[in-house]
Amino acid sequence: MQSAAAPTDRGNDIATTVVTTMGQMGVIGLPRNYEIFYEALTGSNPALSLEVIALGNRPTQEQLDQIGRKFFAQNHGQRIVEQAREVLARELEGVASLLRSERSHIERYGQVLDETSSGLSNRTAMSQELLQKIAGVMSVATAATIDHGRQFASTLGDKSAELETVKSKLEEYKKLADTDPLTHAWNRRAFDNRIAAIYDGNKGVLFSALILADIDRFKDINDRYGHPVGDKILQIVAGIFQTSVHRDMFVARTGGEEFALVVEGMTEDATVEIADRIRMLVEQTQLKDIQPGIDWGQVTVSMGVCMASDADGPQDLYAKADRALYRSKVIGRNRVTRYSSIATQQGKNWLLYKKD
Ligand code: GH3
Ligand code: MG
Ligand code: MG
Repeated sequence: MQSAAAPTDRGNDIATTVVTTMGQMGVIGLPRNYEIFYEALTGSNPALSLEVIALGNRPTQEQLDQIGRKFFAQNHGQRIVEQAREVLARELEGVASLLRSERSHIERYGQVLDETSSGLSNRTAMSQELLQKIAGVMSVATAATIDHGRQFASTLGDKSAELETVKSKLEEYKKLADTDPLTHAWNRRAFDNRIAAIYDGNKGVLFSALILADIDRFKDINDRYGHPVGDKILQIVAGIFQTSVHRDMFVARTGGEEFALVVEGMTEDATVEIADRIRMLVEQTQLKDIQPGIDWGQVTVSMGVCMASDADGPQDLYAKADRALYRSKVIGRNRVTRYSSIATQQGKNWLLYKKD
């Protein structure tokens, strides 16, 4: 039947196109490359398709892996863990067999010592020749043991270097699992953990605050310049958040064009001042490409501030900062609103805000 056969045919067509395109572009047939080209050619992710087209012929594996990391961060991370697990298992088996061999070598050496010492104690008078023979046996066995010990130390050194590599790969994975691949800010998962920590044991509640920032009319930017430019602007804005005030301030990308900043050790006034300073910096930044002559103008951000002490827990803190942010949107965007200033007007104006 035609209708039943159609999906398979289409599947086969795509598979053929993927293989042909990869061949024409000179891409190695690795599973992770198939994954990228399959997604790019089915068009299910337009941003990915654009990046793959922009690669041109003969892209390097590093360029492809960069795309993989950006669009399939989860799978990529998974791969790192699997590889690390395999290396670990192999290396641990290697260390275990090394220890086994070291042990049997030492046992053999012990046997030689036992035998020679019992040989010595059983004799009262010993010829020069016999003594020399015993000394010879012991010297050979000792030299072999020293040599073996050196090899053991050097192989163990190699193994520990390989284990260091595994460790840094796993650290890379941990970072990847907590990082937004586009902006390198922390991701939502890391953010959730960070604000939960504020309320853990109430340690940080007194002087911690959350600033939520959402780029104004960002949809217009995408419509005017295209999604890839939108991505670049997200990176520029994230860079301003990350470097403008405190280099070690916690900055996360919590949604498409929404960021969260966690401020510590500040009063509410000081936090609002910081937020406003960042808001102005964004407004004053001329958004440019590295290519000279390309200038996308400016963007603005709306912000909401809530002190941790004004909320019951992490979710409440996020919800309250979000309400303050929405208030900033309602009353004209490009401004900072503190939750404490609207706390008594609940259910009023922010409901008027509509996404358009
Ligand atoms: P508002 O001032 O009300 O926040 O308006 P807005 O246009 O910024 O808000 P809206 O929520 O209507 O649109 C957000 C847009 O952000 C729509 C979506 O396409 C875009 N966006 C979300 N994530 C990304 C991304 O990763 N890259 C790019 N380029 N655009 C994104
Ligand atoms: Mg927005
Ligand atoms: Mg938004």
